[in-house]
Amino acid sequence: MSEIQAEPEAIRAAASAHDAITADAAELATLRELRKVAAHFTGTWAELIHQLPDSYSCEMNCAEANAAADLYRAFGDDSTAAAIIAAHAATDDDEERAGHAEDQ
Ligand SMILES: [Zn+2]
Repeated sequence: MSEIQAEPEAIRAAASAHDAITADAAELATLRELRKVAAHFTGTWAELIHQLPDSYSCEMNCAEANAAADLYRAFGDDSTAAAIIAAHAATDDDEERAGHAEDQ
């Protein structure tokens, strides 16, 4: 096998590597955009989200409260996460209530 035949393989390998890098870059750009909008959402809602039950006469179930708290914890806002759980626990009458105590 001559070098002339090997060269197209090298080109194909380089093109494949380029495609993989391009795909990774596109995914990274998507993740950065998701982080940006999620950070904007959590920042915008930080004051209101734990007051929702009182302000709108609604209740979060355990899964909703935990999911919201997890989102705030992921962005390093532990005080809002704790406020969400505290507000939820104040009206939570299901058996999981004891599980929220360790979250606070
Ligand atoms: Zn609960």
